[in-house]
Amino acid sequence: MSAALWSDELGLDALVLEQAESIGGQLNIIHNRIANYPGVKVQNGKEFIDLFAPDVANADFDLWTSVVIDSVDLKAKRVSLLSGEQIQSIAIVIATGVRRRALGIPGEKEFVRKGLIESGARDQNEFKGKDVCVVGGGDAAVENALLLSDVCATVTLIHRGKRLRARREMLEQLKTNHCVTVFTESVVTRILGNDEVEAVEVMRKGGLKPFQIAVKGVLIRIGVEPNTELVRGQVNLDEQGYIITNSEHETNVPMVFAVGDVSNPLAPTISSAVGAGATAAKVIAAHLNAR
Ligand SMILES: Cc1cc2nc3c(=O)[nH]c(=O)nc-3n(C[C@H](O)[C@H](O)[C@H](O)COP(=O)(O)OP(=O)(O)OC[C@H]3O[C@@H](n4cnc5c(N)ncnc54)[C@H](O)[C@@H]3O)c2cc1C
Repeated sequence: MSAALWSDELGLDALVLEQAESIGGQLNIIHNRIANYPGVKVQNGKEFIDLFAPDVANADFDLWTSVVIDSVDLKAKRVSLLSGEQIQSIAIVIATGVRRRALGIPGEKEFVRKGLIESGARDQNEFKGKDVCVVGGGDAAVENALLLSDVCATVTLIHRGKRLRARREMLEQLKTNHCVTVFTESVVTRILGNDEVEAVEVMRKGGLKPFQIAVKGVLIRIGVEPNTELVRGQVNLDEQGYIITNSEHETNVPMVFAVGDVSNPLAPTISSAVGAGATAAKVIAAHLNAR
Protein backbone atom coordinates (compact mmCIF):
# COMPACT_ATOMS: atom_id res chain seq x y z
CA MET A 1 0.00 0.00 0.00
CA SER A 2 2.90 2.31 0.81
CA ALA A 3 4.51 1.65 -2.60
CA ALA A 4 1.18 2.22 -4.34
CA LEU A 5 0.40 5.44 -2.43
CA TRP A 6 3.85 6.82 -3.19
CA SER A 7 3.57 5.74 -6.86
CA ASP A 8 0.32 7.66 -7.07
CA GLU A 9 1.91 10.73 -5.52
CA LEU A 10 4.85 10.51 -7.94
CA GLY A 11 2.56 10.33 -10.97
CA LEU A 12 3.17 6.65 -11.73
CA ASP A 13 0.37 4.44 -13.00
CA ALA A 14 0.17 1.68 -10.39
CA LEU A 15 -1.91 -1.48 -10.11
CA VAL A 16 -2.03 -3.55 -6.90
CA LEU A 17 -2.88 -7.24 -7.24
CA GLU A 18 -4.12 -8.72 -3.95
CA GLN A 19 -5.20 -12.33 -3.59
CA ALA A 20 -7.31 -11.70 -0.47
CA GLU A 21 -10.76 -10.16 -0.49
CA SER A 22 -9.48 -7.06 1.23
CA ILE A 23 -6.26 -5.18 1.97
CA GLY A 24 -4.18 -5.35 5.15
CA GLY A 25 -2.24 -8.62 4.92
CA GLN A 26 -1.00 -9.71 8.34
CA LEU A 27 -2.57 -6.67 9.98
CA ASN A 28 -5.82 -8.63 9.72
CA ILE A 29 -4.46 -11.21 12.18
CA ILE A 30 -2.93 -8.87 14.75
CA HIS A 31 -5.27 -9.07 17.71
CA ASN A 32 -3.15 -7.20 20.19
CA ARG A 33 -2.08 -3.58 20.63
CA ILE A 34 0.26 -1.99 18.10
CA ALA A 35 2.27 0.73 19.79
CA ASN A 36 5.56 0.72 17.90
CA TYR A 37 4.59 2.58 14.74
CA PRO A 38 5.40 6.23 15.39
CA GLY A 39 2.30 8.36 15.88
CA VAL A 40 -0.13 5.45 15.90
CA LYS A 41 -1.74 3.79 18.91
CA VAL A 42 -4.25 1.12 17.97
CA GLN A 43 -5.75 -1.83 19.81
CA ASN A 44 -5.31 -4.25 16.89
CA GLY A 45 -4.36 -4.55 13.22
CA LYS A 46 -7.89 -3.94 12.02
CA GLU A 47 -7.85 -0.48 13.62
CA PHE A 48 -4.55 0.20 11.82
CA ILE A 49 -6.12 -0.76 8.46
CA ASP A 50 -9.06 1.54 9.20
CA LEU A 51 -6.60 4.41 9.62
CA PHE A 52 -5.05 4.09 6.15
CA ALA A 53 -8.02 2.62 4.22
CA PRO A 54 -9.42 6.10 3.40
CA ASP A 55 -6.05 7.12 1.86
CA VAL A 56 -6.16 4.00 -0.32
CA ALA A 57 -9.77 4.68 -1.32
CA ASN A 58 -8.98 8.30 -2.23
CA ALA A 59 -5.82 7.51 -4.21
CA ASP A 60 -5.78 7.05 -7.96
CA PHE A 61 -4.01 3.69 -8.23
CA ASP A 62 -5.96 0.58 -9.21
CA LEU A 63 -6.53 -2.12 -6.61
CA TRP A 64 -7.76 -5.54 -7.69
CA THR A 65 -8.65 -7.89 -4.86
CA SER A 66 -9.48 -11.65 -4.92
CA VAL A 67 -6.98 -11.99 -7.75
CA VAL A 68 -5.25 -15.29 -8.52
CA ILE A 69 -1.87 -14.81 -10.18
CA ASP A 70 -1.07 -17.76 -12.41
CA SER A 71 2.50 -16.83 -13.29
CA VAL A 72 4.93 -13.95 -13.38
CA ASP A 73 7.68 -13.34 -15.90
CA LEU A 74 9.95 -10.98 -14.00
CA LYS A 75 12.36 -10.31 -16.83
CA ALA A 76 9.51 -9.39 -19.18
CA LYS A 77 7.61 -7.66 -16.30
CA ARG A 78 4.49 -9.59 -17.26
CA VAL A 79 1.90 -10.99 -14.86
CA SER A 80 -0.63 -13.59 -16.00
CA LEU A 81 -3.80 -14.06 -14.00
CA LEU A 82 -5.77 -17.28 -13.73
CA SER A 83 -8.67 -15.42 -15.37
CA GLY A 84 -6.55 -15.24 -18.54
CA GLU A 85 -5.72 -11.57 -18.28
CA GLN A 86 -2.12 -10.43 -18.84
CA ILE A 87 -0.65 -7.31 -17.32
CA GLN A 88 2.41 -5.71 -18.87
CA SER A 89 4.32 -3.28 -16.70
CA ILE A 90 7.61 -1.41 -16.55
CA ALA A 91 8.41 -2.27 -12.96
CA ILE A 92 7.22 -4.85 -10.45
CA VAL A 93 7.17 -4.52 -6.66
CA ILE A 94 6.86 -7.84 -4.85
CA ALA A 95 5.21 -7.39 -1.44
CA THR A 96 3.77 -10.82 -0.82
CA GLY A 97 4.78 -11.03 2.85
CA VAL A 98 5.05 -14.20 4.88
CA ARG A 99 2.71 -16.89 6.14
CA ARG A 100 2.76 -18.92 9.34
CA ARG A 101 4.70 -22.15 9.05
CA ALA A 102 2.61 -25.27 9.52
CA LEU A 103 3.66 -28.43 11.37
CA GLY A 104 2.38 -30.64 8.55
CA ILE A 105 1.04 -33.29 10.93
CA PRO A 106 -2.24 -35.23 11.01
CA GLY A 107 -5.03 -33.25 12.68
CA GLU A 108 -3.64 -29.82 11.88
CA LYS A 109 -6.05 -29.16 9.02
CA GLU A 110 -8.93 -31.24 10.37
CA PHE A 111 -9.26 -29.30 13.63
CA VAL A 112 -9.30 -25.77 12.23
CA ARG A 113 -11.97 -23.95 14.29
CA LYS A 114 -12.40 -27.17 16.32
CA GLY A 115 -9.73 -26.56 18.92
CA LEU A 116 -6.90 -25.05 16.92
CA ILE A 117 -6.31 -21.67 18.54
CA GLU A 118 -5.60 -18.86 16.08
CA SER A 119 -4.66 -16.19 18.60
CA GLY A 120 -3.96 -16.29 22.32
CA ALA A 121 -5.11 -12.67 22.66
CA ARG A 122 -8.35 -13.04 20.73
CA ASP A 123 -9.41 -16.54 21.78
CA GLN A 124 -8.70 -16.36 25.53
CA ASN A 125 -12.39 -16.50 26.50
CA GLU A 126 -13.13 -19.56 24.39
CA PHE A 127 -10.42 -21.55 26.19
CA LYS A 128 -11.00 -20.18 29.70
CA GLY A 129 -10.53 -22.90 32.34
CA LYS A 130 -9.33 -25.46 29.78
CA ASP A 131 -6.03 -27.32 29.28
CA VAL A 132 -4.22 -26.14 26.16
CA CYS A 133 -0.86 -26.54 24.51
CA VAL A 134 1.33 -24.15 22.54
CA VAL A 135 3.85 -25.45 20.00
CA GLY A 136 7.01 -23.41 19.40
CA GLY A 137 9.78 -21.74 21.33
CA GLY A 138 10.21 -18.21 19.99
CA ASP A 139 8.67 -14.86 20.99
CA ALA A 140 5.27 -15.58 19.48
CA ALA A 141 4.94 -19.00 21.14
CA VAL A 142 6.00 -17.82 24.59
CA GLU A 143 3.91 -14.64 24.36
CA ASN A 144 0.83 -16.70 23.51
CA ALA A 145 1.57 -19.24 26.27
CA LEU A 146 1.75 -16.38 28.79
CA LEU A 147 -1.48 -14.83 27.48
CA LEU A 148 -3.33 -18.15 27.67
CA SER A 149 -1.95 -18.85 31.16
CA ASP A 150 -4.00 -15.87 32.43
CA VAL A 151 -7.22 -17.79 31.82
CA CYS A 152 -6.50 -21.46 31.04
CA ALA A 153 -6.31 -24.26 33.61
CA THR A 154 -2.92 -25.41 32.27
CA VAL A 155 -0.68 -24.49 29.35
CA THR A 156 1.89 -26.95 28.01
CA LEU A 157 4.58 -25.34 25.87
CA ILE A 158 6.21 -27.83 23.52
CA HIS A 159 9.44 -26.88 21.75
CA ARG A 160 11.63 -29.09 19.60
CA GLY A 161 14.86 -27.22 20.45
CA LYS A 162 16.98 -27.50 23.54
CA ARG A 163 16.30 -23.94 24.69
CA LEU A 164 13.46 -21.47 24.19
CA ARG A 165 14.45 -18.62 21.87
CA ALA A 166 12.08 -15.94 23.18
CA ARG A 167 13.11 -12.54 24.51
CA ARG A 168 14.67 -12.51 27.98
CA GLU A 169 11.82 -10.59 29.64
CA MET A 170 9.30 -13.19 28.46
CA LEU A 171 11.48 -16.05 29.70
CA GLU A 172 11.71 -14.31 33.09
CA GLN A 173 7.90 -14.18 33.26
CA LEU A 174 7.73 -17.83 32.30
CA LYS A 175 10.02 -18.85 35.18
CA THR A 176 7.56 -17.64 37.80
CA ASN A 177 4.45 -18.79 35.96
CA HIS A 178 3.13 -21.96 37.59
CA CYS A 179 0.44 -22.53 34.97
CA VAL A 180 2.89 -23.20 32.11
CA THR A 181 4.80 -26.48 31.81
CA VAL A 182 7.63 -26.53 29.26
CA PHE A 183 8.72 -29.58 27.29
CA THR A 184 11.88 -28.97 25.28
CA GLU A 185 13.44 -31.34 22.73
CA SER A 186 9.94 -32.62 22.04
CA VAL A 187 7.82 -32.64 18.90
CA VAL A 188 4.09 -32.89 18.43
CA THR A 189 3.46 -35.74 16.02
CA ARG A 190 -0.36 -35.76 15.88
CA ILE A 191 -3.37 -33.76 17.02
CA LEU A 192 -6.04 -36.16 18.19
CA GLY A 193 -9.78 -36.02 18.79
CA ASN A 194 -13.18 -36.86 17.38
CA ASP A 195 -15.24 -33.77 16.59
CA GLU A 196 -12.88 -31.48 18.50
CA VAL A 197 -9.30 -31.53 19.76
CA GLU A 198 -8.87 -33.90 22.72
CA ALA A 199 -5.12 -34.49 22.92
CA VAL A 200 -1.73 -34.08 21.31
CA GLU A 201 0.71 -36.89 20.71
CA VAL A 202 4.26 -35.93 21.69
CA MET A 203 7.61 -37.57 21.04
CA ARG A 204 10.51 -36.58 23.27
CA LYS A 205 14.08 -36.72 21.98
CA GLY A 206 15.51 -40.09 22.97
CA GLY A 207 12.05 -41.35 24.02
CA LEU A 208 11.07 -44.88 23.09
CA LYS A 209 7.48 -44.15 22.15
CA PRO A 210 5.18 -41.14 21.90
CA PHE A 211 2.87 -40.13 24.76
CA GLN A 212 -0.36 -38.14 24.83
CA ILE A 213 -1.30 -34.94 26.64
CA ALA A 214 -5.03 -34.24 27.04
CA VAL A 215 -5.79 -30.72 25.79
CA LYS A 216 -8.80 -28.90 24.41
CA GLY A 217 -6.82 -26.38 22.42
CA VAL A 218 -3.60 -26.23 20.39
CA LEU A 219 -1.85 -23.06 19.25
CA ILE A 220 1.01 -23.38 16.74
CA ARG A 221 3.72 -20.71 16.44
CA ILE A 222 6.74 -22.26 14.77
CA GLY A 223 7.79 -19.31 12.69
CA VAL A 224 6.92 -17.99 9.27
CA GLU A 225 7.96 -18.58 5.67
CA PRO A 226 8.10 -16.10 2.80
CA ASN A 227 5.52 -16.19 0.00
CA THR A 228 7.96 -16.53 -2.87
CA GLU A 229 6.59 -19.51 -4.83
CA LEU A 230 5.60 -17.31 -7.79
CA VAL A 231 9.12 -15.97 -8.32
CA ARG A 232 11.36 -18.89 -7.33
CA GLY A 233 13.99 -19.55 -9.97
CA GLN A 234 13.67 -16.03 -11.38
CA VAL A 235 15.13 -13.95 -8.59
CA ASN A 236 17.90 -14.43 -6.01
CA LEU A 237 16.67 -15.84 -2.70
CA ASP A 238 18.56 -16.44 0.52
CA GLU A 239 18.77 -19.94 2.04
CA GLN A 240 15.46 -19.42 3.87
CA GLY A 241 13.68 -18.37 0.68
CA TYR A 242 13.58 -14.61 1.36
CA ILE A 243 14.15 -12.31 -1.63
CA ILE A 244 17.56 -10.64 -1.65
CA THR A 245 17.60 -6.94 -2.51
CA ASN A 246 20.05 -4.04 -2.48
CA SER A 247 19.63 -0.96 -0.30
CA GLU A 248 17.15 0.46 -2.84
CA HIS A 249 15.05 -2.71 -2.47
CA GLU A 250 15.80 -3.72 -6.07
CA THR A 251 16.36 -7.43 -6.73
CA ASN A 252 18.97 -8.89 -9.10
CA VAL A 253 16.40 -8.42 -11.90
CA PRO A 254 16.42 -4.76 -13.01
CA MET A 255 13.19 -2.87 -12.20
CA VAL A 256 11.94 -5.70 -9.98
CA PHE A 257 11.74 -4.70 -6.33
CA ALA A 258 10.87 -6.59 -3.17
CA VAL A 259 9.59 -4.84 -0.04
CA GLY A 260 8.27 -5.77 3.37
CA ASP A 261 8.49 -9.09 5.16
CA VAL A 262 9.12 -11.11 1.96
CA SER A 263 12.60 -9.61 1.81
CA ASN A 264 13.17 -8.77 5.46
CA PRO A 265 13.82 -11.79 7.68
CA LEU A 266 15.66 -9.71 10.29
CA ALA A 267 13.23 -6.91 11.05
CA PRO A 268 9.75 -7.77 9.78
CA THR A 269 7.77 -4.76 10.97
CA ILE A 270 5.11 -2.44 9.64
CA SER A 271 7.46 0.54 9.74
CA SER A 272 10.17 -1.18 7.70
CA ALA A 273 7.62 -2.48 5.16
CA VAL A 274 6.16 1.02 4.76
CA GLY A 275 9.64 2.52 4.39
CA ALA A 276 10.73 -0.05 1.83
CA GLY A 277 7.56 0.49 -0.21
CA ALA A 278 8.17 4.23 -0.29
CA THR A 279 11.80 3.73 -1.32
CA ALA A 280 10.89 1.32 -4.13
CA ALA A 281 8.34 3.74 -5.59
CA LYS A 282 10.78 6.64 -5.43
CA VAL A 283 13.56 4.62 -7.08
CA ILE A 284 11.21 3.47 -9.86
CA ALA A 285 10.16 7.09 -10.48
CA ALA A 286 13.80 8.20 -10.56
CA HIS A 287 14.71 5.44 -13.08
CA LEU A 288 11.82 6.44 -15.32
CA ASN A 289 12.62 10.14 -15.12
CA ALA A 290 16.22 9.41 -16.11
CA ARG A 291 15.17 7.61 -19.31
C1 LIG B 1 0.41 -11.55 15.31
C2 LIG B 1 1.28 -10.50 14.68
C3 LIG B 1 1.62 -9.37 15.39
C4 LIG B 1 2.41 -8.38 14.83
N1 LIG B 1 2.68 -7.27 15.55
C5 LIG B 1 3.41 -6.26 14.99
C6 LIG B 1 3.64 -5.05 15.70
O1 LIG B 1 3.21 -4.86 16.84
N2 LIG B 1 4.40 -4.09 15.08
C7 LIG B 1 4.91 -4.24 13.83
O2 LIG B 1 5.55 -3.34 13.33
N3 LIG B 1 4.69 -5.39 13.14
C8 LIG B 1 3.95 -6.39 13.68
N4 LIG B 1 3.73 -7.54 12.97
C9 LIG B 1 4.38 -7.70 11.65
C10 LIG B 1 3.64 -6.91 10.54
O3 LIG B 1 2.30 -7.30 10.48
C11 LIG B 1 4.33 -7.18 9.22
O4 LIG B 1 5.68 -6.77 9.31
C12 LIG B 1 3.68 -6.43 8.04
O5 LIG B 1 2.32 -6.75 7.94
C13 LIG B 1 4.40 -6.77 6.75
O6 LIG B 1 3.72 -6.23 5.68
P1 LIG B 1 3.92 -6.80 4.21
O7 LIG B 1 3.12 -5.92 3.33
O8 LIG B 1 5.34 -7.00 3.92
O9 LIG B 1 3.32 -8.27 4.21
P2 LIG B 1 1.90 -8.87 4.63
O10 LIG B 1 1.25 -8.08 5.69
O11 LIG B 1 2.18 -10.32 4.89
O12 LIG B 1 1.02 -8.72 3.31
C14 LIG B 1 1.30 -9.47 2.16
C15 LIG B 1 0.09 -9.39 1.24
O13 LIG B 1 0.40 -10.03 0.02
C16 LIG B 1 -0.69 -10.84 -0.38
N5 LIG B 1 -0.19 -11.94 -1.22
C17 LIG B 1 0.66 -12.93 -0.87
N6 LIG B 1 0.89 -13.75 -1.91
C18 LIG B 1 0.16 -13.27 -2.96
C19 LIG B 1 -0.03 -13.67 -4.32
N7 LIG B 1 0.58 -14.74 -4.81
N8 LIG B 1 -0.85 -12.93 -5.09
C20 LIG B 1 -1.47 -11.83 -4.60
N9 LIG B 1 -1.34 -11.38 -3.32
C21 LIG B 1 -0.53 -12.10 -2.51
C22 LIG B 1 -1.29 -11.32 0.93
O14 LIG B 1 -2.63 -11.73 0.76
C23 LIG B 1 -1.14 -10.09 1.81
O15 LIG B 1 -2.26 -9.24 1.72
C24 LIG B 1 2.91 -8.55 13.50
C25 LIG B 1 2.57 -9.67 12.77
C26 LIG B 1 1.76 -10.65 13.33
C27 LIG B 1 1.38 -11.86 12.52
